[in-house]
Order: sequence, then C-alpha cells, then structure tokens
Amino acid sequence: MIVEEPQYEPEYEYVDDFSDLKVENEEEEIARLQLPPPVPQDIRDDKERIATIEFKCSGCDMQELVHYFGQKPPFAIGVKFREDTYVMRDPFQAPPQRWKLKPEFYVAIGAHCAMCNKVVCKDTSCSIYYTKTYCLQCGFAKSKSWPVEAQTKLRKQLTD
Ligand SMILES: [Zn+2]
Ligand SMILES: [Zn+2]
Repeated sequence: MIVEEPQYEPEYEYVDDFSDLKVENEEEEIARLQLPPPVPQDIRDDKERIATIEFKCSGCDMQELVHYFGQKPPFAIGVKFREDTYVMRDPFQAPPQRWKLKPEFYVAIGAHCAMCNKVVCKDTSCSIYYTKTYCLQCGFAKSKSWPVEAQTKLRKQLTD
C-alpha cells in the first residue's frame, strides 16, 4: 500500500530571478528615476540673492548694486537699522540654510543724508554717523548742537 505523502507546500519559495520586480514600462521608469531631485529652498530663492538696487555715493566714485534698501534686511536676521540703509550680502559668505536661523553676514554700504537726502557711503570721507547718517557738509552744519566727542570725531574726519 502506497501512502501518498502529502504534498509539501512551503509558505514561500525562493526565486532565482527577480522577474517579479521587472518594470513593465522600462522607459517610463527610467524617465521617472531621472527626474531632478527637489530643488533646495535656498537655490530656489536665488533671485533674491541677485543685487538689483543701485547705490551711488554722491561723495565719491563708489557705485554698487546692492541687495536691499531699508531697515530690516531679510538676510540679516535680528538686525534692524535705525535708518534706511543700503545693504549688500557678504559676497564671501555661503548661502545660509533656511531652517537655520543664522544671520548671514552683510555689509552696510551707505544711506541717505538725514538732512539733504543725498546718498552717501559709509566711508569717513563721505559721511558721518551721529544718531543718523549725514553727509559731511550737513554733518558740519549740524554738529554745533552735537556733544563735543561727536564734534571732535567730525573734525578729525574733515581733516583726514
Ligand atoms: Zn562715498
Ligand atoms: Zn547732507
């Protein structure tokens, strides 16, 4: 009497090939895999990184394109100027990562004279800062009401 052994059926089997994983439409799959990775935030914001605001000092030859004019540059977190200021991103500073609230280095280039509104750079031969930015002429006119230290500073700038 032959007892038929029950057919042994494993719950799983080993497969030699990976035919199951074969992609139906190979071209489509390749195209999908070749899609560029999502663009990181700070590259997308590249436009904002291009200096488009013209700055031209009325006192010297300085002429620059700057990134920002105002009091709170978005790239200098935590910084608020007391007056509208022409600000450039530091060209030597790598782009910051958005999620890091790290202030980016910046350079304050100049401002408008608080009296005559002329654009002046921060150079000591073009402007003086005492509570506000003044061109040297206006600073001189205004300095009579300033404390001695500020007057001395201005006099030194004028004679340099
Ligand atoms: Zn200047
Ligand atoms: Zn002035």
